Order: sequence, then C-alpha cells, then structure tokens
Amino acid sequence: MVRELFATGGRGVFSFEFFPPKTEAGTAALERTIRELSDLEPSFVSVTYGAGGSTRHKTLELVQWIQREAGLTAMAHLTCVGAKREEIGTVVDRLAEAGIQNVMVLRGDPPAGEARFVQPEGGFGFASDLVTFIRGRHGDRLCLGGAGYPEGHIECRDLDRDIRNLKTKVDAGLDVVVTQLFFDNRFYFDFVARARAVGIRVPIVPGIMPIRNLASVERMTKLCGASMPPALHAELNRCRDDEGAVAALGVAHATAQCVELLRGGAPGIHFYTLNQSPATRVILTALKAARLA
Ligand code: FAD
Repeated sequence: MVRELFATGGRGVFSFEFFPPKTEAGTAALERTIRELSDLEPSFVSVTYGAGGSTRHKTLELVQWIQREAGLTAMAHLTCVGAKREEIGTVVDRLAEAGIQNVMVLRGDPPAGEARFVQPEGGFGFASDLVTFIRGRHGDRLCLGGAGYPEGHIECRDLDRDIRNLKTKVDAGLDVVVTQLFFDNRFYFDFVARARAVGIRVPIVPGIMPIRNLASVERMTKLCGASMPPALHAELNRCRDDEGAVAALGVAHATAQCVELLRGGAPGIHFYTLNQSPATRVILTALKAARLA
C-alpha cells in the first residue's frame, strides 16, 4: 500500500501519472511506455479518471493491467463528477475486489462546457465528502490520496481558506497529499509550511510536470491557475518554435526543481508524465546519479 512506502523512510517515493488513452492504439502505446519506465522502479503508478466518462472504465482496466502485467503498484484516481453515491461506491468496491488498494480521491473539474462544478444529484460536492464515504465503506483497507494546491485552488485564491479546506479533507481520512504542478519551488515550501501550521501531518508530495511544449503548458497553467516564473517563460518563448530546445529546457528546469525539492525535505516526486517516457527517464536517472532517488 502506498502509505506504507512513506512510513518506511529511506528512498523517496517516486510515482508516475498517466491518463487513459481514447483509442486502442493509444492504449497499446501507453502500455509500452509503462513497460519502458518500469525498470526505473517507480514506487507506484497512478491513472487519472476522465471528467467526461468515456475513459472511466479504462482507468479500472489500466490499473489492473499495471498491477497484473507490469508488476507495479497502481493507484486509481476517482472523481465525484456526474455520479451518484452508489455508483461511486460500486466503482470503489470493484477496485478493492481487483486488489487495487490505492485511490486518489478528487472532486473533479466541471464537465467540458460547464463553467463551475455542480454537485450531482445524489452525489458529492467536495472531495472530502467522498473521502468520508470511502472510509465509511472500506475503513482503513484502502490508502487514500488527495490533491493540494501550492498556489491555491483556482476557485479559492484565499490561501488560508483553501488550506483549511485541505485540512478538512485530510481529517476525513487522507493518507497522502499530492500537489498540483508548479514551476517555482517557493510555492511548494510555503504550502508545506502553511499545511503544517494548521496541523496537516501527512506526506505532501510535489507534482512535477516536465514542459514539452509551450502552447500546451500555457493552456494548462491557465486552466489550473499555476504560474510560470517570468524568466522561464521568456526563455521558453525565445525557443518556442524549436521543439527539441523547449523539451531540453523543460527537463533541465524540472530536474533543478526536483533536486531542490528533495534536498529541501520533499518525501518524493509525483511525475505528470503526459504519457511520455523520455523526460521522466532523464530526470529520474539524473536524480539517481545525484543519490537523490
Ligand atoms: P476539493 O478538495 O473538493 O476542492 C475543490 C474546491 O472546493 C477548492 O476550491 C476548495 O478550496 C473548495 N472546498 C473544499 N472543501 C470545501 C468545503 N467544505 N466548503 C467550501 N469549499 C470547499 N481531475 C480529474 O477530473 N481526474 C483526475 O484524475 C484528476 N487527478 C488529479 C490529480 C492531482 C494530483 C491533482 C492535483 C488534480 C487532479 N485533478 C483531476 C484535478 C481536480 O479534479 C481539480 O483540481 C478539481 O477542480 C478539484 O478537485 P479536488 O479534489 O482538489 O477538490
């Protein structure tokens, strides 16, 4: 179980996040990517849960494939979007029956085309409600992760209020918090300090996304409310038409972030891989060479 990895100390906890592809060809390519990365011995691999519903069954299939075929510990993401309590309960029961012991519990973003999240009829309004529900149904038999936002969640830019909401979610039964991506480590260190100050004791794992493409990272940061240091943005802009240069800069920046985070006490790194292996491989190899992984 993932929570035990943090308890044993020693090597940090390094995890890779993937999203379920929409096509069979995409799934086959992802399986190759996961196999390629498995020799890096990630502590666990997580699979996101699609907001729209079309890829949801794939999350369950993929996490089972990861554990059975790739021999890695898997974590399934799960959201409150568009589902009633009992429907979500059935998904959790199926995960548990399939031997998936780790779940990332999320509220989810509003479905495409909708401006804000609306609590589904008979469903949950906040991730903390879903955490309470799963704990009520499965007790301590599952390890539950949840999301944290170093720069504040986009719907709650009052950092104090956001951290109190996180405390409520942790108190409902989270074992670990994984952060939203960020490009300036000061946000992470401040976030951890604020979390500890309100009594959050669980591990807080930084989520790192190596930049590959400037336009897509600009879109992503706008959607999730993360910011980009002006100097990094300017440098990326300078080479924006040179894919290789952007990716190299992305890897260099992410590696520098990881080194500082691990030296500063982060319990591991959660890599947003975007279903690609090269950047994560280079960064983790560099961290191993520096005896940080
Ligand atoms: P919550 O913790 O419920 O918070 C949502 C908002 O409500 C915040 O503004 C919070 O401050 C506020 N809030 C919380 N509790 C209360 C309360 N009691 N009263 C008032 N306000 C409150 N999305 C997907 O669709 N699929 C995924 O697989 C997925 N994986 C993710 C993995 C990670 C590590 C991260 C960081 C995000 C992921 N997301 C995913 C995105 C996530 O669903 C969105 O960021 C979403 O907008 C918020 O989800 P949450 O679980 O943080 O919500």
